[in-house]
Amino acid sequence: MGERLGCIDAGSEYCPCHLAETNDCLICSQLQGKSFCDCNWSGVCIYQNFHWCGDKKNDMRTVAEGRIMERKKVHEEILLLKLGVTKTLARQLKQPGSYVFLRDPEKPYFFNVPMSIMDANENTGEIHIAVQIVGPKTKALMACKDKILIKGPYWNGVLGIKKLKTTKGENVLLAARGIALAPSVLAIKYLLKNHNKITFIMDPGKLGMVFVHDYIKNLNLETIELNFKEEKGLKDFRNILKKGNYSLVYSAGSDRFHKRVENAIEDMDEDIKFAITNNTHMCCGEGVCGSCSYKTKGGTTVKMCKCQLEPKELLEGRNVNV
Ligand SMILES: Cc1cc2nc3c(=O)[nH]c(=O)nc-3n(C[C@H](O)[C@H](O)[C@H](O)COP(=O)(O)OP(=O)(O)OC[C@H]3O[C@@H](n4cnc5c(N)ncnc54)[C@H](O)[C@@H]3O)c2cc1C
Repeated sequence: MGERLGCIDAGSEYCPCHLAETNDCLICSQLQGKSFCDCNWSGVCIYQNFHWCGDKKNDMRTVAEGRIMERKKVHEEILLLKLGVTKTLARQLKQPGSYVFLRDPEKPYFFNVPMSIMDANENTGEIHIAVQIVGPKTKALMACKDKILIKGPYWNGVLGIKKLKTTKGENVLLAARGIALAPSVLAIKYLLKNHNKITFIMDPGKLGMVFVHDYIKNLNLETIELNFKEEKGLKDFRNILKKGNYSLVYSAGSDRFHKRVENAIEDMDEDIKFAITNNTHMCCGEGVCGSCSYKTKGGTTVKMCKCQLEPKELLEGRNVNV
């Protein structure tokens, strides 16, 4: 039996994908070239869908021209963008873990850069994104004045998403640092809809700025600011974790940040669910280009733009130290 892997696109309108055509489907054993059926997918049969599509992949994501409705430079390194998109795309991007590829229309396709959705409004057809300007692709976005290219929707921005989505009426702790405060907003909104009680720990990080206040000010949650890089901050975090009776912890930051949070959870010796933001380098988002390749402990090479792996396995495999 092959490894049981999860695919974020399985059963969506973008499934079956390119990987089915090349016998590299993450889920379906027949679309991995085997002659028998052996999958753990409980949705509509991917193999059957593939045949219905004429032994071809389903529709591909398209590149749309988005309208820049607002651009605010709130920090030397942070640009907040409000983009006008179709209501359908805005609705598809309301899920926690949603992201798109952005690009300056004047630049070639390899300037596509993955960016998390901070907020989305399907009634007005708006999405909000916070960009940290770090290198060539993000610097190129600075040149966009009225228009920007948007490819999406993509959803694998959070690993452990199923745990997040099935948590209802519980106490949840979210910890986010720096630019990763952005994807926390959608996670918070989803968790609140499911009647969870939320503590949101915000670490301004190297940027020294919490830029999400406007997005969470009307939400019912407890917020705490602290710095995980300081001994006191980490100690405070551990105390909050101990006292809160949390059933899920969501970590948004670098892999080292995730590891710090994971270590604190492990020291608790309690069964706490764990979800993290996906920090893999991504370029095509379709499981093809290879920039997000990762070798699982079972020896399978998977593409992390689509594959849902256990946060613990990924951090272990990447040998992340704090
Ligand atoms: C799912 C996802 C969501 C993201 N959301 C946001 C966001 O909301 N806001 C934001 O500012 N940034 C986000 N990022 C990170 C952003 O994509 C990178 O900072 C960007 O790709 C850097 O490109 P660059 O050419 O400007 O800089 P580079 O000089 O190429 O790299 C600068 C830094 O970004 C990392 N990086 C480089 N290429 C990638 C890549 N293709 N994917 C991921 N990391 C990369 C590098 O390790 C390095 O630390 C996200 C990344 C992913 C995978």
